[in-house]
Amino acid sequence: MKRSPRLDRYERLVGSDLLSRIYRAAESLAGSHVLHINTTARGGGVAELLQALNPLMEELGIEQTRKVIQLDEPSNLFTARLADLLQGIEQGDIPAEEQRVFLDKLRLTPAMRHAEENQADIYFVHDFQLAPFAQLFPWMRPTLWMCHIDTANPDPYAKAYIEQFLDAYSVCVFNSQQSVFKDLPSEKTQVIMPTIDPFSEKNRFLTPAKGMRALAKCGIDVARPLITQVSRFSNWKNPHQVIDVYRLVKQQLPSVQVALVGAMEAADDVKALEILKDLQEYAGNDPDIHLLSDPAVITHTEVNAFQRYSSVMLQRSIREGFGLTVTEAMWKYQPVVGTSVTGLRLQIIDGRNGYLVDDTETCAQAALRLIYDRDLWRKLGKRAHTLIKNNYLLPVMTLEYLEALKKALGMSATTSHPQAPLDIALSSQPALHAESST
Ligand code: UDP
Repeated sequence: MKRSPRLDRYERLVGSDLLSRIYRAAESLAGSHVLHINTTARGGGVAELLQALNPLMEELGIEQTRKVIQLDEPSNLFTARLADLLQGIEQGDIPAEEQRVFLDKLRLTPAMRHAEENQADIYFVHDFQLAPFAQLFPWMRPTLWMCHIDTANPDPYAKAYIEQFLDAYSVCVFNSQQSVFKDLPSEKTQVIMPTIDPFSEKNRFLTPAKGMRALAKCGIDVARPLITQVSRFSNWKNPHQVIDVYRLVKQQLPSVQVALVGAMEAADDVKALEILKDLQEYAGNDPDIHLLSDPAVITHTEVNAFQRYSSVMLQRSIREGFGLTVTEAMWKYQPVVGTSVTGLRLQIIDGRNGYLVDDTETCAQAALRLIYDRDLWRKLGKRAHTLIKNNYLLPVMTLEYLEALKKALGMSATTSHPQAPLDIALSSQPALHAESST
């Protein structure tokens, strides 16, 4: 099979064995066409994953096209409520009339009206709320559904609502084993854990000089300590607690600053503006609280700079299916102070490569410890980087993705792929910030 230069770049990071398995899996799918359907062109984890995966798949000879479905505001509100229920934050039901209205909207989606314009060999529906699609459009076969949110403890009613649509799918994909719906037959499920592309603008090495310039451009005083959380402005990301933590740290360390970085790009994030306004009020006129939301200012380079050169990174999510922002920060040698939610527990090993703490005071203590003790910060950060290198770089997801496609086509797996061991050994670690060759 023709080699993919994009894939071959990973050889020295992930080894040749994994690459061989990817080539073997891709060979049987070469020439097929996958149509991806999701709701956001840019912004958020789904868009991020597709941007990384699709060019690689093209090089492996599997055609990829993408259809972005624009949902209107009532549909986005319906989605937000469904997410609250599926992530187990709320309980209750969604009135039948609202369900009917939403279903009618999906049925009339202009982009889906003509089967002949959407011909593909395999259909991949991303975003949990689009689950009815395969039933509504029977020409979409075979179809995979991917659920990117944290469904480890869903409200039973919301789960039943989603499950009524899943018979029409060949494969249901979840982003962690914990989130898989327990009553689905195992041959119908697949876990695809999100991963990052270390060669992307967001993740590749950025010199300290460029990083500092990017931070200064955003109003940060680079001579003073900085606490950062990179995340959409969403209550799921718990931004108010980030400010509370900063305020506690500031009592001990008056020079500290905080940045909440959330470029507002995701069109489905209906509540983001409201939350940002509320945070502005909550922040008052403190010049050391930086709420950064302008996508013209916060490009991937700025995200890279914040993740790489902040003094300490927080991820205070109340629910998190996986948490790519944490993967990205850990890749950049940051021990993240996260919460003990599904996706962060997969990545952060408390006390070894970061901290898992839920309450504000303990989080502030962990942040202070990492700011004061830079040797500890460096040691945990190196382990964080190693964990991501061994488990969460794009080729791992590529193989799982190919296996899911093969499952959808009824092909048997040629490459069993147990999850790589979580290698947190510290031998021959590169110096901090010295991954420039990646
Ligand atoms: N992101 C970004 N700019 C921002 C905030 C977030 O590019 O200002 C990216 C972030 O780097 C990550 C993705 O959006 O790649 C968020 O994915 P995650 O899984 O952390 O959360 P989601 O938004 O999907 O809940």
